[in-house]
Amino acid sequence: IIHIENISKKFGALEALHNVSLDVQKGEVVMIIGPSGSGKSTLLRCINRLEKYDEGLIIVDGIPLNTAENINAVRTEVGMVFQQFNLFPHLSVIDNIVLAQRVVRKRNRAEAEKVAIDLLEKVGIPDKAHARPGQLSGGQQQRVAIARALAMNPKIMLFDEPTSALDPEMIQEVLDVMLNLAKEGMTMVVVSHEMGFARAAAHRAILMDGGQIIEEAPPEILFTNPKEERTRLFLSKVL
Ligand code: ATP
Ligand code: MG
Repeated sequence: IIHIENISKKFGALEALHNVSLDVQKGEVVMIIGPSGSGKSTLLRCINRLEKYDEGLIIVDGIPLNTAENINAVRTEVGMVFQQFNLFPHLSVIDNIVLAQRVVRKRNRAEAEKVAIDLLEKVGIPDKAHARPGQLSGGQQQRVAIARALAMNPKIMLFDEPTSALDPEMIQEVLDVMLNLAKEGMTMVVVSHEMGFARAAAHRAILMDGGQIIEEAPPEILFTNPKEERTRLFLSKVL
C-alpha cells in the first residue's frame, strides 16, 4: 500500500535521506528505529508529503505523489500522530476531533460528533469530550490526537515517536491504543524505540542510520540477532 523507491532528500548540503526504498503491505505494522538525525522523521514526513523529496518515487495506495491533487488525495488517506500532540488548545476535545471531519470529509456536525464520541470511547476517554486539551494528561492528549487522526478514516497511520514526550506511567495507555489498532489490521509505520510494542505488534523492524536503511527483519530477529555492526551498536545503547 506504500511504495517508496530510491528517494533522496537534502537539506542544503546535508543528505537526510539517501536512496531509501521501502514497501509496506496493507495491514502491515512497520517499526523504524535508529539514532537521532538518521532520517526517520524525514522519511515519515515524505510519505504524506509534509516534506518534499528531491529524487525518487512514492506511491501511496496507487496514487503517485506527483501532483497537488494527488498529494491532497493521499493526505486524506494517511493519518499522522506526532511526539507533540498538536491539538488546538482553544477547542474542546470533541471539537478537535470534529473539525477536520467537517472541513475535509464534509460531515455535518451531528455525524462528526457521533464519530468523535465513538472514537473517544475506543481510546478510553469518553468522559473527556468537553475538556480542553490543557486539562488532560499527556497520555490522554495523545489519545485524543490518535482519535482525531482516526476520525478521518485513514487507510494508513504514521506515528512519529508518539510516546517519547510522555511520562513513563502514561506510555502504556497510548501503546495499548496503538496495539489495538494494529490488531484490527491498520497499516502502520511507527518511529519509536518502544521495543515491547515492536515485539508485540510489528511485523518488521527497520534500522536507519545516516539517511539509509541499514537492516530490516522481524523485530525478534533484528533485536536479538542483528547482522549489521551499526544495528548492534545502536541496540547496545537503547536496550
Ligand atoms: P530524531 O530521532 O532526533 O527525531 P530523526 O531520525 O527523526 O532524528 P530527521 O528529523 O529525519 O532525523 O533528520 C535527519 C537530518 O536532517 C538531521 O541531520 C536533521 O538535522 C536534518 N533536518 C531535518 N529537518 C530539517 C530541516 N527542516 N532543515 C534542515 N535540516 C533538517
Ligand atoms: Mg525524528
